[in-house]
Formats: sequence, C-alpha cells, structure tokens
Amino acid sequence: MHEFETRQYVGGAFVVGDAEPLEVVNPATNATLAVITGASAALATRAAEANAEAARAMRALSVLKRVEFVRRLASGIRAQAAGLAALLTAESGKPIVESRGEVEYAASFFDNAAAAAECAAGELPASRTADRRVLVLREPIGATVAITPWNFPLAMIARKLAPALAAGCSQVVKPAEETPLTALAFARIYEQIARDTGAPMAAFSVVIGDPPTVAGALISHPATRKLSFTGSTDVGRILASQCAPRLIKTALELGGNAPFMVFADADLDRAVEQAMLSKFRFMGQTCICANRFLLAAPIADDFLVRLEARVQALATAIGDPTLESTRMGPLINDAAVAKVEAHVADAVARGARLRIGGRRAAIAGLSRRFYEPTILSHADPSMLCACEETFGPVVAAMAFNSEAEAIALANAVPYGLAGYVMTQDVDRLLRVAEALDCGVVGANDGAPSTAEAPFGGRKDSGLGKEGGTHGLDAYTDLKYVSMRVRSH
Ligand code: ADP
Repeated sequence: MHEFETRQYVGGAFVVGDAEPLEVVNPATNATLAVITGASAALATRAAEANAEAARAMRALSVLKRVEFVRRLASGIRAQAAGLAALLTAESGKPIVESRGEVEYAASFFDNAAAAAECAAGELPASRTADRRVLVLREPIGATVAITPWNFPLAMIARKLAPALAAGCSQVVKPAEETPLTALAFARIYEQIARDTGAPMAAFSVVIGDPPTVAGALISHPATRKLSFTGSTDVGRILASQCAPRLIKTALELGGNAPFMVFADADLDRAVEQAMLSKFRFMGQTCICANRFLLAAPIADDFLVRLEARVQALATAIGDPTLESTRMGPLINDAAVAKVEAHVADAVARGARLRIGGRRAAIAGLSRRFYEPTILSHADPSMLCACEETFGPVVAAMAFNSEAEAIALANAVPYGLAGYVMTQDVDRLLRVAEALDCGVVGANDGAPSTAEAPFGGRKDSGLGKEGGTHGLDAYTDLKYVSMRVRSH
C-alpha cells in the first residue's frame, strides 16, 4: 500500500488541515499510524460551501452519467480491495478476513445505489377529476452531511455516499477520529475516478477534526439539507437538536441492544452457527450484534454447551488481526475494554455464572486490548449487560418459559435496531418477527445486513432507512406539479 493520505479532501482537492493534530493509533500494536492535522470550523465551512456548489453540479448530471460514476466507484473500490482492507485492519483492529468482507460490502452499496437510481421513477397518480393531472417528480435533496463511526470505516461511508451521489446529491463526510485513514484512502479513489469520468470532484469531501466543531460548521451551513449519522444514541440526540432549528432532514442509525431468541424448536447447530456470526463478528462491535441471548428453558443448557465448544475454538484464534488465521483482534480502545470488563463484573456480582472467558487475553508483543470470547449464563434484565450495549465479545444468556415471555423480554429495552429469531416453526417465526419492535429481524440469520435491505431502527435506535430503493429515496424529495388540462 502506498503511504497513508493524511490531508483533508475538501472541494475536490487534498489540503493540509489548519487545527489541532490528531493521532491515529493501531489498536493492536499501539503504534502511531499517522498524525492528521485537524480541520478548523473555517475549513469545515469551506467544505460545506464546496458541497453546496457540487450539489448543483450533481443535480445537472444526467441519471446515466451519475449511474456510470457510481458504478465506477464500486469498481475503484474493488480494484484497491487489498490495500483498503489492510488499512482498515490497521486502524480498526478488524481481522483481515472481515476487512476484506467489509470492502466488498462497501462496493455493493455503490452497485445497489446505481441500480436503484437507474430504475427510479416519478409517479402519475390516477386523476380524480378530468381536468387535472398530478405529476410527481423525484428530485435530489441537495447538499448533505454524513457523520460515520469507526466500526465500519468504509461501509458506513458507502451506505450514505452511494445513494447520495446516485440520487444527484453531494456529501461531506466526517469520519470517526479512530478511523480516518480508510476514508482518506477512499477519497483518493474518488478523486481519481471523478477526474477520469468528468464527474464533480467536490461532490464528496472528507473533513476530520474536533467532532462538535466540524459537525457544528457543517450542520449550520445554510445549504446543508440533510444529515445522516451512525453512532451512539447520545450523540444522535445532540445532532438531531442541532438540525432542528433549520429543520434539516435527519437519518439516525443509533445504538442497539439486540435480543437473540432461541426457541425449543430451533435447529440448535444452525442457531449456534448464527449466534457466532451475530455475536463475535468484529468482536461484538457491530451495531446489530446480539446483546441478550434469550433461550427457551428446555434447550438453554444444550445450546450453551454447543456454543461453548465453538467459543473455545474461537479463543484459540485471538491475536494479530493482520493474520489470515485470526478471527478476533483487539477492541477499538481502552475505554471499550473497560466497558466490557465493567459489564462482566457487574453481571457476576449480580449472580450471573461465567462459563468461559471473562478476562483480557495477553498476546505477546501486542496491546492489552484483546478480550477473550465470553459466555455468561443466568443473566437477568437488571444487569448492565442486559440493559446497555456491551459492544464486546460477551454472550449474556437468560432463559424464558413461553413465547409471550420471550417477546416481552425482547422488547423491554428502549432500543429497537435488530432482533434474531431461531426457530423451525414457520408460524412462530412470522409471529415473533412481527411482534419484535425493531427495524431488522434475522430469522435463522445472524448476519442480516445487506445492501438491498432498508436498514434502520426504531425507538432509541433512531430513524430513517439506508440501503436499497428506500436508501435512495432518503436522498430525494418529492415535488408535485398539478396541471390543469383544458377539455374540449
Ligand atoms: P461511538 O461510541 O461508537 O464512538 P459516537 O456517537 O461517539 O459513537 O461516534 C460516532 C461519530 O460521531 C464519530 O464520527 C464521532 O466523531 C462523532 N461525534 C461524537 N461526538 C460528537 C459531537 N458532539 N458532535 C458531532 N459528532 C460527534
């Protein structure tokens, strides 16, 4: 991989920042990967201004040109997949095998948005009266802003930027401070492809700096029409309140606390397989990962015995995330490890039983941020691990005695992002899927994220949908033209 890009990408050019420096650390090794000179409010405002101008240029592009451009971005990502995955692993600690998966996942958002834009259509509703036609036009919403988290450094940008460009909008992205290098590497790809295709070079910008300063400047710019945010509920609320005075449209993908329900009629081996996928992908640091395991009492022990065997095997694959054989790398930072430790200690103090794991893993020559995959049984809703998002490799399991009790437990949290149902009874599967108060249901599926689905949560997990045709809709606004038609 070429040397890291550490400049900001603003208005179609790379520029050195003008504010406090920001250190990017490899969470596995503690090595400093890069020092980025942060952006001031003034530089962020410049990005917002360029964004406004680029929105006009994007709007003027034909749908065919936009679609071609977005497809080229997908190919550009795939052409640099190896370098992007290596960088992603270096700054996030994501195992390299998963990072490769994320790069392809990111590219798929560009494929999907291009296809959706190509098929997008207005409407001509049936006229109620002979002398009127209502033409419904679909127009790009304009200049947009995205604020993204560290857990999917490339895919969360892709999920927001791809539909923005395909719909004819522009976007300034403020990536997480933990993982700005992947965003900047993508900006290089963007710059090259925009230049090659004659698409607006400034329809995408990357601004990195003090989050409230940068976000404040971007949101308060008069041309900004939409904010798409993925991150914590607390920050989501702050940002929504900043958007309120100007009534800026918001898409907020916030925290979750997903129940993973295993019914007595589930195929247990399949359920265990899906549980491993849901719980231990990126060490439990995904927004939709299972946080509470709700197990039917008659099979609870059998499920946990089988899960424990898989977890034991997983525990032998903790280590250097750059290695092909590694399945678990470090957690993102010291605060993340401290939170996992606090959740486990609290659960044990309140009567949970530690079956396996429950401590940091010492890996020679690497940082202290590795945590063993952990199973706690006899959890209950009063424990921190049941009412807050642990964001780590901890299974907290509790038993239930009826479907109604399982549903009540599943919904008894303020969050509503994802829920998982393991059962072979198709009636139950649909009943429970419909009863879950959340936006994403994995039915015998522990990894339900995919570019064509309308992803998003309910309650404290936020609002708005990303992905598929609904993701494209979120970057368009409807206008209708009412025409009087003279009849003879
Ligand atoms: P996490 O806990 O996963 O890091 P955050 O909500 O803190 O989630 O971060 C998600 C994104 O929100 C990051 O890009 C971060 O820089 C940004 N962010 C955090 N605090 C603020 C803030 N006060 N204003 C604007 N953006 C913020």
